Amino acid sequence: MTASRSADLYQRACRVIPGGVSSPVRAFRAVGGTPLFIDRGEGPYLFDADGNRYLDFVGSWGPLILGHAHPQVVRAVTEACRKGMTFGAPCAGEVELAGRIVRSYPGLEQVRFVSSGTEAVMSAIRVARAETGRSLIVKFSGCYHGHADHLLVAAGSGLATFGRPSSAGVPEAFVSATRVLPLDDEAAARELLAREEVAAVIIEPVPANHGLLLQRQAFLQTLREETRRRGALLIFDEVISGFRLAPGGAAERLGIVPDMATFGKVIGGGMPVGAFGGSRQIMSRLAPDGDAYQAGTLSGNPVAMAAGITTLDILEREDGWHRLDSLGASLERLLQPVLARAPFPLHLVRVGSLAWLSLHAEGAPRVAAALPQEANARFAKLFHAMLERGIYLPPSPYEVCFLSLAHREEHLEELASALASALAS
Ligand SMILES: *Cc1c(COP(=O)(O)O)cnc(C)c1O
Repeated sequence: MTASRSADLYQRACRVIPGGVSSPVRAFRAVGGTPLFIDRGEGPYLFDADGNRYLDFVGSWGPLILGHAHPQVVRAVTEACRKGMTFGAPCAGEVELAGRIVRSYPGLEQVRFVSSGTEAVMSAIRVARAETGRSLIVKFSGCYHGHADHLLVAAGSGLATFGRPSSAGVPEAFVSATRVLPLDDEAAARELLAREEVAAVIIEPVPANHGLLLQRQAFLQTLREETRRRGALLIFDEVISGFRLAPGGAAERLGIVPDMATFGKVIGGGMPVGAFGGSRQIMSRLAPDGDAYQAGTLSGNPVAMAAGITTLDILEREDGWHRLDSLGASLERLLQPVLARAPFPLHLVRVGSLAWLSLHAEGAPRVAAALPQEANARFAKLFHAMLERGIYLPPSPYEVCFLSLAHREEHLEELASALASALAS
């Protein structure tokens, strides 16, 4: 396996792009080595600049629920491009995709499109603040909501810590209206909501950005009840889980209806799309009807809409959510005997087509916790051993794997046997 072209591209990239990458986790810092430059994708496979083929379990971090370059999505996008890529005026695709999201997701009456998950969350929070006339936002330690200033707040573990920025360049003042709570702790949430006037509580109902921290339904139900009781809005950040776990996202699976929801990833089918929505009353706060401003030059462009619509079409037509669930179950069955023989703690945490290889001693944590140093080192070795065996895992022990409809049982078997051999080495 050669990597000379990737290495050369990386060297050149580092001269003109900070760290050589357009998004930090791509840089392989958690696992060492230099990133692969990808030339093309096809179904479950990635091909790098040196022509090596990998079975991909990253799926561009979530959007590629049908696998790479699905022919029908490619055709829909190509046809849309021929008619013009953006008009800065409304198009029929927006009505179609918005209609689908609203029909599929519990409690949603309207959505507006943006071009990323970050923007979706930023905008949802602006509307929530406008609607409640309050400023405070509550988020949970370990949940990622994009890189908007007021949400880039690290975990202060323990009760209701004051937000402290986890990024340089974010003034204290920007996060002074953000509170961070631990996941899985009803008492802390109840106490904070009673004590402070909160505009919105935002959570990934299935937290998937610090490993997969599956929550108890009762905890999320408490957030639902307490926000309602205290006049705060509950926002489900479904940028990963929306249309991945079910047409109605995690909300459908959990049987909990939030006041607002944010989307991204899957609904764009590989194009840059985000969306946020809520009841007609909440969404009417937005300009041009209301006083909360929000806009975007490329929002709802016909090419992105075509990719999203076609992706949802195929998921529906091919019984996608059911098939993804059974793929996930197969993965669990195939990996179990391999994981049981691992020479160190290694567990599979899974829901639907989201799967996390946890190196935590206790298996499936419900709160964000740092891995011990030796676990990070083990993961780095494992990652490279898998890469040598043609398997592309997320390059961080805190990132989840994404299954797609392009994966078949045989690909999962390949993963399992590569893992067995990597662990043995
Ligand atoms: C990826 C992600 C975002 C940010 O979306 P971008 O498109 O990367 O801006 C926000 N929230 C969650 C839960 C995400 O996983």
